[in-house]
Amino acid sequence: MAAQTEESDCAREQTKAEQDVDQVRQRAARDQKRLDSGVVSSPKDLENLQREIASLAKRQGDLEDVVLEVMERRESAQERAGELTERVASVQAKIDDATARRDAAFEQIDGEVATATKEREVIAAAVPADLLKLYDKLREQQGGIGAAKLYARSCQGCRQELAITELNEIRAAAPDTVVRCENCRRILVRTAESGL
Ligand SMILES: [Zn+2]
Repeated sequence: MAAQTEESDCAREQTKAEQDVDQVRQRAARDQKRLDSGVVSSPKDLENLQREIASLAKRQGDLEDVVLEVMERRESAQERAGELTERVASVQAKIDDATARRDAAFEQIDGEVATATKEREVIAAAVPADLLKLYDKLREQQGGIGAAKLYARSCQGCRQELAITELNEIRAAAPDTVVRCENCRRILVRTAESGL
């Protein structure tokens, strides 16, 4: 945007400088016409007129240099604006690409969530209501994990090894008894790898 502003500032400056050149050129042309017409006859007036024409020519030259200098600046501002516009387009293309990939990932995740939610519903329907209630309560209290595997004598929820007496109790409990970790109170799931 700064480069574009500089470019339009230069364009305005160029127009102004060209108008200045034009004014001087017109004035010189008028003087030259007067000189050529022969209406000025006094040597002093003629000399003055010639001197003014010469000074106007010098002034026109100076102003034309200003125009050239402004044009050069304008050209480099245009180039810079062009380059930056290209870069903006390339960055925007990257953003668009990343956005498309993100949206695709969201879509996939939403699909996975829908599948997992359905699976959970089926499993939850098979769990007794009071156990499900306990599980949901623990899950809320324990950062999303209401039940954990008992693996090699350790609770996989809190990673604590269970005490011998506790292990003995669990070993003695009926297979359908709900056992819980003494430490974190999560429901413990017994498997062949529980170390009982
Ligand atoms: Zn635990």
